[in-house]
Amino acid sequence: MRSLLSKLFGWLLGQPEPRIVCDMSIWMAGVEELSKRTLGRRRESGAFLIGEAPEGRPKVIRAFVYYDDLDEHALDTGIVRFNGNKMSKLWDICEARGYRVVADIHVHPGSYGQSPSDKADPVMPRAGHFAFILPNFAAGTVKPGGIGQYEYRGNGLWVDHSTSTAPFLTLR
Ligand SMILES: [Zn+2]
Repeated sequence: MRSLLSKLFGWLLGQPEPRIVCDMSIWMAGVEELSKRTLGRRRESGAFLIGEAPEGRPKVIRAFVYYDDLDEHALDTGIVRFNGNKMSKLWDICEARGYRVVADIHVHPGSYGQSPSDKADPVMPRAGHFAFILPNFAAGTVKPGGIGQYEYRGNGLWVDHSTSTAPFLTLR
């Protein structure tokens, strides 16, 4: 019912619902931490974004789980290399909090475009997964309009929502 009403109000106002939302305070604290973990712009950093994925409604980001907290060597090479064997720690955190993995985010030294390995090796190779990329070591813009916003459709196929006019990520 709530979903129906919010869709109706969105339609009345001419604003389609976003695909994913996050409280501004959680987002800003999270990207600040990612920036810190680049150790002064010396390496990339990243995190899983966990939260809720209600049927037919926008996903909700509730927390950042940093790659290097799960896998201490994830950032050693300068680019994110997360060891899949450390995934069980992530599932434990999700289970304890009743959350799911709804997206991932990582920081680039330069532009927010996906690298060939970002495209070829999704951190979470599941259709419907979202991936965000913050440019300039998260020292510049960190909000929709200036960041990479990608949706994985499976089989190596990505949809780029970075410059889409429809709302994708909404910070509230
Ligand atoms: Zn990348």
